[in-house]
Amino acid sequence: MFNKMNEECGVFGIFNHENACELTYYGLQALQHRGQEGTGIVTSNGERLIQYKGEGLVNQVYQKENLKNIIGIHAIGHVRYTTNGGGGLLNVQPFLFRSQKGQLGLCHNGNIVNAKNIKDHLEGMGSIFQTTSDTEILAHLLKRQAGSFIERLKESLLYLEGAFAFLVLLENELYIALDKYGLRPLSIGRIGDGYVVASETCAFTTIGATYIRDVKPGEVIHIDEKGIHSHHYALNHNCHMCSMEYIYFSRPDSDLLNVNVHASRKKCGITLAKESPVDADIVIGVPDSGMSAAIGYAEALQLPFEMGIIKNKYSGRTFIEPSQALREQGVKMKLSAVCSIVKDKKVVLIDDSIVRGTTSKKIIKMLRDAGAKEVHVRIASPEIKYPCFYGVDFSTYDELICARIDVESLRKKIDATSLSFLSIDGLLDSVSHQGLCLACFNGKYPTHLYENIEDANVEIK
Ligand code: AMP
Ligand code: SF4
Repeated sequence: MFNKMNEECGVFGIFNHENACELTYYGLQALQHRGQEGTGIVTSNGERLIQYKGEGLVNQVYQKENLKNIIGIHAIGHVRYTTNGGGGLLNVQPFLFRSQKGQLGLCHNGNIVNAKNIKDHLEGMGSIFQTTSDTEILAHLLKRQAGSFIERLKESLLYLEGAFAFLVLLENELYIALDKYGLRPLSIGRIGDGYVVASETCAFTTIGATYIRDVKPGEVIHIDEKGIHSHHYALNHNCHMCSMEYIYFSRPDSDLLNVNVHASRKKCGITLAKESPVDADIVIGVPDSGMSAAIGYAEALQLPFEMGIIKNKYSGRTFIEPSQALREQGVKMKLSAVCSIVKDKKVVLIDDSIVRGTTSKKIIKMLRDAGAKEVHVRIASPEIKYPCFYGVDFSTYDELICARIDVESLRKKIDATSLSFLSIDGLLDSVSHQGLCLACFNGKYPTHLYENIEDANVEIK
């Protein structure tokens, strides 16, 4: 049976570096926020590919001892976060395939919306899948094409619809492919005589690599000993970078398409202050992803920016925990109100987004319990009213609170003194972009959706 999964992951690759494996470890650690369920590395010494993978965090999976064994001059790596089941070691990437022609390492960030159709078709033609991941489809498609590897890859990618950032490692070649909508971020850089590729530029800073440029929508990059070669697999390509990368996912120190994430979030906060000002005593942000917008909001209204909530650095992201019950428990474990800062104050609370509404409700209660007089909630993104089918963790309507109730009902539900969201125009004005996907805010999906739309529980709308 086809097992539906969403993956919002991180990929990292390096070509031609004597410390390829260790640098991949550090690169993956920098991308840890993109996935905490499992991680893997495939390395090549130029002749043979070796795979190492495990479930858990980067620093839990790779110990010094096993890092020594996975030597190589090229490597690809992955951090994984899966939402709808389908967990387990088998699905941890990169995958390693062997055929008579050689070996192939493969990993992917994103979600292929026509995965079920292609899998059905391939299975009908005799393919047997080892995993429930979308990623494996590319290996099966590659096997069925003719011509040089780049021709086969370009031909295979034409079958796929949706969001993908693929890394493919052969013994002495690295291939990098981005979907024709540019939905997921992917940048390339240089290190010594080699090249690096990563979901976010923060991985380059960590390992001392220099950013070159972003991979373009529909581009396939081939790196070999002669250098870097650019190809395109699709004639029509357009940039629809995921807005949630700017709003929530990416690290503030990363640049997406040459635009800094912190600066974008801060501008969202400034715009939000213009759209929905409050006469308050202090502005506080929900750590970590609400902080940049809170700084912008406070600056625009010349209000004091305060640390009204402190995060316990050693507890994981609450969203990552699979069940709602655990998530609810998690918020308290993670955040604490600073009573002396918020007591008797009119507080503006800034967060980056509301998905299920669990977090804001808990935090508002926490602030009220700590003595806050008023809690005005300002959200630095528009209302998320539509599911995402491109790998972000809300693929059904029923998990989106803003799909079900209006802003005033939500305000009452979370017990906020007032509540407003950034407008879609405000978001577009705040992020210097080359084209954004706004589908979860306005329902205008850049791709066909195939069966995903039925699975999304449309009838409850
Ligand atoms: P909630 O409204 O309780 O579902 O959670 C909203 C919080 O989760 C916000 O503070 C965001 O920082 C964070 N968040 C937003 N989108 C996601 C996502 N797709 N995956 C994980 N966390 C998210
Ligand atoms: Fe990102 Fe939303 Fe588009 Fe999904 S629908 S890719 S979360 S902007």
